[in-house]
Amino acid sequence: MIIVLKPDAKKLDTDNLLKKIEDANLKPILLEGTHRSVIAVIGDERKMPAEFLEAQPGVEKTMPILAPYKIASRETKIDNTEIKIGENTLGGKKVGVIAGPCTVESEEQIVSVAKIVKASGAIALRGGAFKPRTNPYSFQGLQEEGLKYLATARKETGLPIVTEVLSEKSIDMVAKYTDVIQIGTRNMANFELLKAVGEVKKPVILKRGMAATLEEFLQAAEYILSQDNPNVILCERGIRTFETHTRFTLSLSIVPQLKELTHLPVIVDPSHGTGKRNLVNPMSKGAVAVGADGLLIEVHHDPEASFVDGPQTINEDDFKTLMLELKPIANAVNREA
Ligand code: PEP
Ligand code: MN
Repeated sequence: MIIVLKPDAKKLDTDNLLKKIEDANLKPILLEGTHRSVIAVIGDERKMPAEFLEAQPGVEKTMPILAPYKIASRETKIDNTEIKIGENTLGGKKVGVIAGPCTVESEEQIVSVAKIVKASGAIALRGGAFKPRTNPYSFQGLQEEGLKYLATARKETGLPIVTEVLSEKSIDMVAKYTDVIQIGTRNMANFELLKAVGEVKKPVILKRGMAATLEEFLQAAEYILSQDNPNVILCERGIRTFETHTRFTLSLSIVPQLKELTHLPVIVDPSHGTGKRNLVNPMSKGAVAVGADGLLIEVHHDPEASFVDGPQTINEDDFKTLMLELKPIANAVNREA
């Protein structure tokens, strides 16, 4: 259920109401909007009938939430959620580009790619230190050493860092170094991991499961949100279909659909979504044209030498060109890039 507060609801009334809800063993989540705030109430609503709530000071009305995802729903919060990443935000007017190599290979490599992506206007550096590999004998990432190199790259460039966490056992270590936590496609339905990153309170990029429906994707986001972490960024990264000309099928139509159904920022990863370097530029432009709030792009100073995902990784020149070409597309849809 959603409790819509009056525009002039007093803080004391709101605090009292939150306490009453908690005392009834329900979980209240306060979502503060620019015009008015709402409280999403999670749990068995029979414990607090609508008539009781509507009689409380500061309450305008109550409404049932129809979608299976409650906190993520636009029914709960009309305004877009803007998530701060360093000095920038995702979900506002500016389209934010996060870029970096698939994996951290060495200190020199990550610092050099960080400088490249920063020079062209990326808002954050992404690199994997823990890599989810299909083959157990493939390179698994530099792990804590990789996290340290990411921290060095942040120090040298000022770019916030994004890196993936693979399991609950490494959450504390990853959270110690990173600004933003990534949950990969293979872990979208690892509900214990989602709950655990929800407790960390740092922004989370949640990648869509490669076989997940839109509703499953939003319910996965709800796992993180329901731990009182409001900073969830949804990432479309391609789904499995019968098509083989690309690595996955980048489902761009999910972007405007998600923007209708949720207030959370939505970004697109055309690198994993296509698996092909030549498709990264056009699909990035397509993503911005259909309303993406940002992009996640694999960049390397020498893509052919990349340890992982070389065929979908672009070089410095291509990244620079892409960043310039995104600007008119963003302007055409009333955004900035
Ligand atoms: C990645 O971002 O490097 C990655 C492994 O992505 P995904 O989880 O989308 O496959
Ligand atoms: Mn990759």
